[in-house]
Amino acid sequence: MNQVLRILLVDDNPGDRALVIRQLQREFPSVEVQEILEAEGLKNAVEAGQFDFVITDYQLRWSTGLEVLRTIKQRSPSCPVIMFTNTGTEEIAVEALQSGLDDYIIKQANRYIRVPAAVRVALERAEARRQAALVEIRLQGLLNQLKVGIFRSYPNGKFIECNPAFLELLGVDSLAQAEARNLLNTREFYSTLEALEPPQQQERELQLHRTDGTSIWVALSITLNTLEGQKVLDGLIEDITARKQVEIEIQQLNQTLEKRVRERTAQLEVANQELAQTNQKLGIVNQDLEEFAYSVSHDLQQPLRAIQGFSSMLLENQGKQSNRPVERQQDYLRRIIASTQQANKLIQDLLAYSRLTRTEMPLQPINLSLLMAEILRQLEPEFKQRLLSVHLEEPLAEVIGNRTILVQVITNLLTNAIKFVTPGVQPEVRIWTEKRGETVRLWLQDNGIGIAPKYQKRIFNVFERLHSNEVYPGTGIGLAIVRKGVERMGGRVGVESQQGQGSRFWIELPVATE
Ligand code: ADP
Repeated sequence: MNQVLRILLVDDNPGDRALVIRQLQREFPSVEVQEILEAEGLKNAVEAGQFDFVITDYQLRWSTGLEVLRTIKQRSPSCPVIMFTNTGTEEIAVEALQSGLDDYIIKQANRYIRVPAAVRVALERAEARRQAALVEIRLQGLLNQLKVGIFRSYPNGKFIECNPAFLELLGVDSLAQAEARNLLNTREFYSTLEALEPPQQQERELQLHRTDGTSIWVALSITLNTLEGQKVLDGLIEDITARKQVEIEIQQLNQTLEKRVRERTAQLEVANQELAQTNQKLGIVNQDLEEFAYSVSHDLQQPLRAIQGFSSMLLENQGKQSNRPVERQQDYLRRIIASTQQANKLIQDLLAYSRLTRTEMPLQPINLSLLMAEILRQLEPEFKQRLLSVHLEEPLAEVIGNRTILVQVITNLLTNAIKFVTPGVQPEVRIWTEKRGETVRLWLQDNGIGIAPKYQKRIFNVFERLHSNEVYPGTGIGLAIVRKGVERMGGRVGVESQQGQGSRFWIELPVATE
C-alpha cells in the first residue's frame, strides 16, 4: 500500500500506544498515527477529519471506547473502527459491533501482534462496503434514469419494495397508496405465474388508469422467485404509451384506409353497374334504331318503287307516241298519286310518333263523355261512309290526361275498329269506362276480324302489321302512337281478343277526383 494510511489512536496508556505503533509501522511503511490522549484532542481530530482509520481502547479515563465509536460513526459512518477490550467485557464488544465496530482485540501483551491483520481486514471490508455502495448508487441512478419501475411483492399482493420510478409511473406517493387503489393486481399475476412451468415468467402489455384521471400503457415483465424460502413476485414495468399511441394510430389509419377502399370499391361497383346498364340501354336503342331505320326504308321503298315504275311507263309511252288509251295513262297517274299519298301518310305518322316523345305534355282532368262526343262529331263523315254504329255507355268517367294526345289515341283506336272488319260487315263499336281504384279503363270493343293472342303484344310496336297493304292499308304506326301516348300520360294499354271474334282494346289512365 503506497498511499499514506492515517490512523487515530485513542489510548491513555503510552506503553500500549508505543506497542501498537510499532506493530503498525512494521506492516504499513507509510502509516501516520495521530495519538489522542483526551476529549479535546478527539474533538479536534474528528472535526478536522484527517484520518482513514480509528483504533480505540475501551477503557479511557475521560470516556469509553463505545463513546469514541459513536462519535466517529456519527461523523464518518464508513470509517473503520477497531477496539481494545479487557477480558470479560465480551458483552461490550458485542454491543460495539452492533453500533458499527469492525473488530475488537483483547488487550493482552501477546495480542498486539494481531493489530495489523485486524486493521487490514477492516480496511478491506470497508473498501468492499464502499464499492458495494457505489455500485448500488450507480444502479439506483441507472434505474431511475431509465424510468423503469421495479417492484417486489408477496403472493398475497402486498408490496415489499419498489424504486421511485415505479411510484412515479403508477402516479402514487407510496406503495400503500398503490395497494389501496389496486393499480396493479399482483395477486392475479401470482396465480397466473404459479400455474406455469418454470421459468415462471410472463410479459404483457396493459393500460394503467391512474388516480389523476390519466392513463398510460405499460409493458409488464413478471417473474416468480423464491427468496429465503419465501415466494415473491418480481416485476418490471416500462412506459410504452408513446409506442402504443403510434400503434393505435396506425391501426386506426389502416381501418380508415380499409373503409375508404371498401367505399370506393362500392362506388366503382355502382358506377360499373350504371355503365353496364347504360351500355345495355344504348345497345337496345341502337338495335331499335337499326330496326326502325330498316322498317322506314322498307316501308317507304314500296310507294317510291310504284311511283318510279308508273312514271317510267308514262315516259316510255310519251316517247313512242303511244297508242295506249288515255284511261290507262290516267290510271298510272292515279297510282302515282296514291303512292305519294301513302308515302306522305307514312312520313306524317312517323312525325306524329316522334313528336310524342319530344313535346311537353301538360296533364289535366278530362271528361271522357264530352271528349268522345267531340271526336265522334269530327269523324262523322268517315263513319257515315262506313255505316259505323257506336254504342256509348254513358256516363263515361273523368281521367287525368292530355287532351290533344287523348284525341289522337282514341281516334286511332276507332279508325282501326272500323278498318279491321270482314268486308261487307257493318262495323259496330261499344264504348264504356270501368273504374279500377285509382285508375279508369276506357274500353273499345269492335266486331272486327280479331287478333290471335300471339300477336297481341307485337301490334303495339312501330311498323308491326298483320296484313298486307292491299288487304288492309296502313302504316303500322297507329297502335305504337296509342301506346306511347298513353304511357306518357302515366297509363297503360292492352287488348283482349280472339281471331275472328272481335277485339276489346283498353287504355288505363289515372282517375280525376272531384
Ligand atoms: P295500321 O292500322 O296502320 O296497320 P296499327 O299500328 O294501327 O297499324 O295496327 C297494327 C296492326 O294491328 C294492324 O295492321 C292490324 O293487323 C292489327 N289491328 C289493329 N287494330 C285492330 C283491330 N281493331 N282489329 C283487328 N286487328 C287490329
